Amino acid sequence: MKKERNLSSELFIESKKLVPGGVHSPVRGFKGLNTTPIFINKAAGAYLYDVDNNKYIDFCMSFGPLILGHKDSDVEQELHIALERGWTYGTAEEYSLKLAKYIIDKIPFIEQIRFMNSGTEAVMTAIRLARGYTKKNKIIKFSGCYHGHTDSMLIKAGSGVTQIADASSKGVPSGVVQDTLVLELGDLDQLQKTFAHYKDDIAAVIIEPLPANNGLLIQDNNFLKKLRELTKTYDALLIFDEVISGFRVAFGGMSELLKITPDLVTYGKIIGGGLPVGAVAGSKKIMQMLAPVGDVYQAGTLSANPLAMIAGLATLKKLNDNFYENLNANSTEIKNIFNNFFNNCDCDYNLDETLEMINFKSLFWIIPKGIKITSIKDIPSNISRVFSNLFDILIDKGIYLAPNAYEVGFVSIAHDKDVITTLNNLLRRN
Ligand SMILES: *Cc1c(COP(=O)(O)O)cnc(C)c1O
Repeated sequence: MKKERNLSSELFIESKKLVPGGVHSPVRGFKGLNTTPIFINKAAGAYLYDVDNNKYIDFCMSFGPLILGHKDSDVEQELHIALERGWTYGTAEEYSLKLAKYIIDKIPFIEQIRFMNSGTEAVMTAIRLARGYTKKNKIIKFSGCYHGHTDSMLIKAGSGVTQIADASSKGVPSGVVQDTLVLELGDLDQLQKTFAHYKDDIAAVIIEPLPANNGLLIQDNNFLKKLRELTKTYDALLIFDEVISGFRVAFGGMSELLKITPDLVTYGKIIGGGLPVGAVAGSKKIMQMLAPVGDVYQAGTLSANPLAMIAGLATLKKLNDNFYENLNANSTEIKNIFNNFFNNCDCDYNLDETLEMINFKSLFWIIPKGIKITSIKDIPSNISRVFSNLFDILIDKGIYLAPNAYEVGFVSIAHDKDVITTLNNLLRRN
């Protein structure tokens, strides 16, 4: 049934006058979709409610932080108590200490942690720290991994024999471009050659051990293990960017699942329970390089904001083995419902391909059926067009996906049996 979204349409027109593209982060602009942005004014559990009073099952979950769903009652209660005590002090407080302790107790390789306000900041700091620690300049990253919008990470692979990288955004100076090397995910040969060539210049390799920002590009464990070995051989740091995978695939993220210890890890999203947050963590030896102890500078007016610390801790406290078991079981059920729908729906709808939902724990991605995608080179060129049709079909059924073909979906613990039954009804072929 077609849903009316007149008020959303009006608000978008107004917003475009006041804000570039009408939104405060590009993907929210629904570029390439037939639908215009949906203005939300309420959320609870697995559901979003828009200003036109439509209700949607949310599979975007604010792009990852909400592993408990919207407005989890325990987090809410803690936030209410915290609000009574003020919301920023700009000085030492106990909330961040509690969160730091909780994490350091549970993740063996983390001896120290520093909280900041976003994943972007965390990556920016990890890179500066790696350069300060190793006294080297070059950073290796991989095509298809996203590390926030700091200059040195907005670099894409170059073309031609020179392999000199290009900025992926205007406004990134060429000096910065020079110091970021962009390689192909999974290409060990290229990685080995790059290390051999730049030998003593590589400060760090940064990777999403589960790349989940340009589709879900599940990597071969062997590649990640070799990456660990090579970084050791060449005295470069290995930075795992677990802003998305941390606390989602396991409490200790991919590093726990793979049993690979990075030198530094960056967190964000879940670690703040849905409030703005980022963190860098690692061994004391490296972390001690940060100001005020060491000479690598990093600071923040609202860093370790008490509300974010409290929401983060209240969230992390619920993430035990039983939690992950339930979450992953629900994710599998959801995947099966979608795939059943995809296998039976191509004659009813204008989806000129049979689609497939793939998943890794509670992250999923929708792709044309039967292909294996582990690097951006494998992504079919028609994926955005096919996704746009699918998005329209689902949105009118009351199912909200992240509004871009390259974004993954998220299942939360609030996607429970009731929600799964509702989803099944919404997607049943009639
Ligand atoms: C979301 C994300 C970031 C950026 O975090 P922000 O809080 O949006 O700045 C960085 N790295 C990864 C892997 C992410 O998923």
